[in-house]
Amino acid sequence: MKTPVCDACLATNSFCASCQRKLDSGEVTRTELEIAKTLRAENLSEQAGFERALELKDAVLIFTLTPAAVIGRQGKVVKAVSKALGKKVKVIDDAASPHDKVAEILRPARMLGVNTVFKSGGKEFHIRVPREEARLLPDSPLALKTLVSQFLGAPAEIILE
Ligand SMILES: [Zn+2]
Repeated sequence: MKTPVCDACLATNSFCASCQRKLDSGEVTRTELEIAKTLRAENLSEQAGFERALELKDAVLIFTLTPAAVIGRQGKVVKAVSKALGKKVKVIDDAASPHDKVAEILRPARMLGVNTVFKSGGKEFHIRVPREEARLLPDSPLALKTLVSQFLGAPAEIILE
């Protein structure tokens, strides 16, 4: 299984120098460790796994190249992860385009579109969400804007309209 922690460490629950360093530095979070342990308990295949996880106020995002495996049959695996974390979990296809990832992150709020705005400092993205769906966003527009900017590679604003 491919996770931010190596298989041997997950199996023995004692950490090698490399994993310990990643945990100490915060490169690997406790949440990611918990997800890795849960996926291991669910017996995911060798090819399955996840790249990283990000924590929002109302949900944990799991980025994976094997979304079907992380979701599991009828959502069995993702339900187990959600239970272990005590939080809603969204599985995001890490191979999807940046726009598709952002739309998935904002769900259940709908992304109406992304406008590219050219400013003197460079380009900026305006991500349009219906105002009446602001309460459905998984975190505050401010927190989401920072996160989404990383995916799009340029400053982004969440515009409620
Ligand atoms: Zn290790």
